[in-house]
Amino acid sequence: MTSVSLPACPAGPGAYVVAIAVAAPLTVRLVGGGLSARLRPGRYLYCGSAYGPGGLQARLARHFRKDKSIRWHVDQLTTAGEVKGAWAVTLGNECELVERLGFLPVPIDGFGATDCTHCRSHLLRWPSRVPARTIRAALAAGGEPPVWLRVSPTRRSRA
Ligand SMILES: [Zn+2]
Repeated sequence: MTSVSLPACPAGPGAYVVAIAVAAPLTVRLVGGGLSARLRPGRYLYCGSAYGPGGLQARLARHFRKDKSIRWHVDQLTTAGEVKGAWAVTLGNECELVERLGFLPVPIDGFGATDCTHCRSHLLRWPSRVPARTIRAALAAGGEPPVWLRVSPTRRSRA
Protein backbone atom coordinates (compact mmCIF):
# COMPACT_ATOMS: atom_id res chain seq x y z
CA MET A 1 0.00 0.00 0.00
CA THR A 2 1.42 3.35 -0.98
CA SER A 3 0.28 6.64 0.42
CA VAL A 4 0.61 10.03 -1.15
CA SER A 5 -0.30 13.24 0.58
CA LEU A 6 -0.34 16.40 -1.44
CA PRO A 7 -0.73 19.19 1.09
CA ALA A 8 0.85 21.74 -1.26
CA CYS A 9 -1.31 20.78 -4.22
CA PRO A 10 -3.83 23.42 -5.24
CA ALA A 11 -7.39 22.31 -4.60
CA GLY A 12 -9.71 22.46 -7.54
CA PRO A 13 -9.29 21.88 -11.24
CA GLY A 14 -6.37 22.66 -13.50
CA ALA A 15 -3.58 21.33 -15.67
CA TYR A 16 -0.30 19.72 -14.70
CA VAL A 17 3.03 18.42 -15.93
CA VAL A 18 4.25 15.16 -14.40
CA ALA A 19 8.01 14.44 -14.41
CA ILE A 20 8.87 10.77 -14.77
CA ALA A 21 12.28 9.09 -14.82
CA VAL A 22 12.57 5.88 -16.84
CA ALA A 23 15.60 3.79 -15.88
CA ALA A 24 15.48 1.06 -18.54
CA PRO A 25 14.18 0.90 -22.13
CA LEU A 26 10.41 0.70 -21.94
CA THR A 27 7.99 -0.65 -24.52
CA VAL A 28 4.66 1.13 -24.26
CA ARG A 29 1.43 0.15 -25.92
CA LEU A 30 -0.57 2.76 -27.75
CA VAL A 31 -4.05 1.78 -26.64
CA GLY A 32 -6.50 1.60 -29.51
CA GLY A 33 -4.16 1.17 -32.43
CA GLY A 34 -2.64 -2.01 -31.04
CA LEU A 35 0.72 -0.45 -31.74
CA SER A 36 3.67 -0.29 -29.43
CA ALA A 37 6.63 2.02 -29.23
CA ARG A 38 9.87 2.07 -27.33
CA LEU A 39 11.04 4.74 -24.94
CA ARG A 40 14.70 5.02 -24.14
CA PRO A 41 15.85 5.60 -20.58
CA GLY A 42 15.68 9.21 -19.44
CA ARG A 43 13.32 11.86 -18.17
CA TYR A 44 9.87 12.52 -19.56
CA LEU A 45 7.19 15.13 -19.02
CA TYR A 46 3.52 14.37 -19.38
CA CYS A 47 0.97 17.19 -19.70
CA GLY A 48 -2.58 16.56 -18.58
CA SER A 49 -5.56 18.23 -17.01
CA ALA A 50 -7.96 17.39 -14.23
CA TYR A 51 -11.37 18.97 -14.42
CA GLY A 52 -13.31 16.05 -12.96
CA PRO A 53 -14.19 15.23 -9.35
CA GLY A 54 -11.27 15.71 -6.97
CA GLY A 55 -9.48 18.04 -9.39
CA LEU A 56 -5.70 18.30 -9.36
CA GLN A 57 -5.27 16.64 -5.97
CA ALA A 58 -7.05 13.43 -6.89
CA ARG A 59 -5.47 13.19 -10.32
CA LEU A 60 -1.91 13.84 -9.18
CA ALA A 61 -2.29 11.45 -6.26
CA ARG A 62 -3.26 8.84 -8.85
CA HIS A 63 -0.27 9.62 -11.05
CA PHE A 64 2.00 9.41 -7.99
CA ARG A 65 0.68 5.95 -7.04
CA LYS A 66 2.18 2.79 -8.50
CA ASP A 67 -0.63 0.40 -7.64
CA LYS A 68 -3.33 1.09 -10.19
CA SER A 69 -4.84 -0.39 -13.30
CA ILE A 70 -3.56 0.88 -16.65
CA ARG A 71 -6.18 3.30 -17.90
CA TRP A 72 -4.25 5.96 -19.78
CA HIS A 73 -1.11 5.81 -21.91
CA VAL A 74 0.87 7.58 -19.20
CA ASP A 75 0.00 4.92 -16.60
CA GLN A 76 2.56 2.69 -18.32
CA LEU A 77 5.26 5.23 -17.45
CA THR A 78 4.14 6.05 -13.94
CA THR A 79 4.02 2.36 -13.01
CA ALA A 80 7.25 1.25 -14.72
CA GLY A 81 9.19 4.44 -14.13
CA GLU A 82 9.71 6.69 -11.15
CA VAL A 83 7.49 9.74 -10.77
CA LYS A 84 9.63 12.61 -9.47
CA GLY A 85 6.88 15.18 -9.02
CA ALA A 86 4.63 17.51 -10.91
CA TRP A 87 3.98 21.15 -11.70
CA ALA A 88 0.38 22.13 -11.09
CA VAL A 89 -1.35 25.06 -12.76
CA THR A 90 -4.72 26.02 -11.35
CA LEU A 91 -7.26 26.39 -14.17
CA GLY A 92 -4.51 25.70 -16.69
CA ASN A 93 -4.88 24.12 -20.10
CA GLU A 94 -2.86 21.00 -20.90
CA CYS A 95 -2.40 21.81 -24.60
CA GLU A 96 -1.12 25.26 -23.69
CA LEU A 97 1.47 23.64 -21.42
CA VAL A 98 2.54 21.35 -24.26
CA GLU A 99 2.91 24.41 -26.45
CA ARG A 100 5.05 26.21 -23.86
CA LEU A 101 7.33 23.17 -23.77
CA GLY A 102 7.45 23.03 -27.56
CA PHE A 103 11.26 23.23 -27.53
CA LEU A 104 11.41 19.69 -26.11
CA PRO A 105 11.51 16.64 -28.38
CA VAL A 106 8.43 14.46 -28.91
CA PRO A 107 9.32 10.81 -28.20
CA ILE A 108 6.13 9.18 -29.56
CA ASP A 109 3.56 10.82 -31.82
CA GLY A 110 0.06 10.68 -30.38
CA PHE A 111 1.09 9.53 -26.92
CA GLY A 112 -1.45 10.69 -24.34
CA ALA A 113 -3.11 12.85 -26.97
CA THR A 114 -5.59 10.40 -28.47
CA ASP A 115 -8.45 12.87 -28.08
CA CYS A 116 -6.42 15.95 -28.89
CA THR A 117 -6.51 17.48 -32.35
CA HIS A 118 -4.06 20.22 -31.38
CA CYS A 119 -0.91 18.49 -30.11
CA ARG A 120 1.45 15.96 -31.64
CA SER A 121 1.83 14.37 -28.24
CA HIS A 122 1.18 15.13 -24.59
CA LEU A 123 4.41 13.36 -23.67
CA LEU A 124 7.72 15.13 -24.12
CA ARG A 125 11.27 14.04 -23.58
CA TRP A 126 13.20 16.06 -20.99
CA PRO A 127 16.88 15.86 -21.99
CA SER A 128 19.43 15.94 -19.17
CA ARG A 129 21.00 19.11 -20.61
CA VAL A 130 17.77 21.06 -19.88
CA PRO A 131 17.68 22.24 -16.25
CA ALA A 132 14.48 22.23 -14.20
CA ARG A 133 14.51 26.02 -13.97
CA THR A 134 14.20 26.19 -17.77
CA ILE A 135 11.09 24.01 -17.65
CA ARG A 136 9.68 26.06 -14.80
CA ALA A 137 10.30 29.36 -16.58
CA ALA A 138 8.76 28.03 -19.79
CA LEU A 139 5.66 26.88 -17.92
CA ALA A 140 5.37 30.25 -16.17
CA ALA A 141 5.40 31.99 -19.57
CA GLY A 142 6.30 35.30 -17.95
CA GLY A 143 3.63 34.99 -15.28
CA GLU A 144 3.29 33.22 -11.98
CA PRO A 145 5.49 30.08 -11.88
CA PRO A 146 3.57 26.85 -11.32
CA VAL A 147 3.64 24.98 -8.02
CA TRP A 148 6.13 22.09 -7.90
CA LEU A 149 4.90 19.03 -6.01
CA ARG A 150 7.63 16.62 -5.10
CA VAL A 151 6.90 12.96 -4.58
CA SER A 152 7.68 12.17 -0.95
CA PRO A 153 10.74 9.93 -0.53
CA THR A 154 8.74 7.92 2.01
CA ARG A 155 6.23 6.71 -0.52
CA ARG A 156 5.64 3.39 1.10
CA SER A 157 3.67 3.46 4.31
CA ARG A 158 4.35 0.75 6.83
CA ALA A 159 0.82 -0.20 7.73
ZN1 LIG B 1 -3.23 18.71 -26.66
